[in-house]
Amino acid sequence: MTQPKAISLISGGLDSLLATKVIMEQGVHVEGINFFTGFCVEGHTHAIRDKHKQKPKRNNALWVAETLGIKLHIIDIVEEYKDVLLNPKYGYGANMNPCLDCKIFMVHKAQQWADENGFDFIITGEVVGQRPMSQRKDTMPVIARESGAQDRLLRPLSARNLPATLPEREGWIKREDMHDFSGRNRKPQMALAAKYGFTDYASPAGGCCFLTDENYSKKLVDLWDARGSREYEMDDIMLLKVGRHIRPKSGFKLIVGREEGENKFLQGYTKQFTTLKTTSHAGPLTLLDGVANDADLELAARITARFSQGKSAESVTVETRRTNGETREIQVAPMPASEIQDSWYV
Ligand code: SF4
Repeated sequence: MTQPKAISLISGGLDSLLATKVIMEQGVHVEGINFFTGFCVEGHTHAIRDKHKQKPKRNNALWVAETLGIKLHIIDIVEEYKDVLLNPKYGYGANMNPCLDCKIFMVHKAQQWADENGFDFIITGEVVGQRPMSQRKDTMPVIARESGAQDRLLRPLSARNLPATLPEREGWIKREDMHDFSGRNRKPQMALAAKYGFTDYASPAGGCCFLTDENYSKKLVDLWDARGSREYEMDDIMLLKVGRHIRPKSGFKLIVGREEGENKFLQGYTKQFTTLKTTSHAGPLTLLDGVANDADLELAARITARFSQGKSAESVTVETRRTNGETREIQVAPMPASEIQDSWYV
């Protein structure tokens, strides 16, 4: 046979890096595939927030591909992914993460890609027992079955704990040269990484998407509740990653920049939202998402002033700008911390 070809799901984390390497070592031609859902953690927050300045602003999936010397196909699935998130057949994990449906969907997409491009099988970095929802002994076969990949789905890090797959039976790869990792202990992966000389990999604790994050999930549910419909656009999910989200009234929410990097990012949205900015003191840029009358705007200005350097001043000047271009300067007393109710924080 000619050299077998595999497509590997690359998340940017250590497991997919190792799984891919294990199969490359066996003489298989491997290319990577990375799916962009819009909920990816890496890169975005690190690029915006000043406190992450020391962290490398790299795309971890690209870094993995570069480290392995393989081609990476980055595929935007933002639109198709909405149905996965909104209607997961297997429900959600601890937060708004539909991990099992997500994995089924991604493996299915990878299988389609493999069929179209003449690839023989699919690799993932899954490890039996590592994740409570999608990486359990009873759910891993569900992914293989429902994605349509069946026995063309190979998990090299746990393969010796799982039934033999097509690439093994065909003799393209040796079962004994794969692994039997299981459970949440990451030491075997770290040892394997050391053996291959991989040091600068992404932190395993980083998580692969915002949907596993409790605070992010709360903000997403709040957005849907406030709109009365479960839908979202790319801008919505990006803005949920940035700033303090404060809902003092049901009709509107404030997104208050926490630092210069976030203020700059929010600046890009000033045409779509009513905005507030302190002018007498250094302070945040605030976006107002929703409908606000003049009294609401004053309330929003007092909250914005609270997060400015004038928070102890008697009066702070705040410039408000509505989306129709109407701009006003108002003087407000910054809201005392004691008046900002915990329940306002989304
Ligand atoms: S953490 Fe996010 S990207 Fe990863 S499987 Fe779960 S839903 Fe999908």
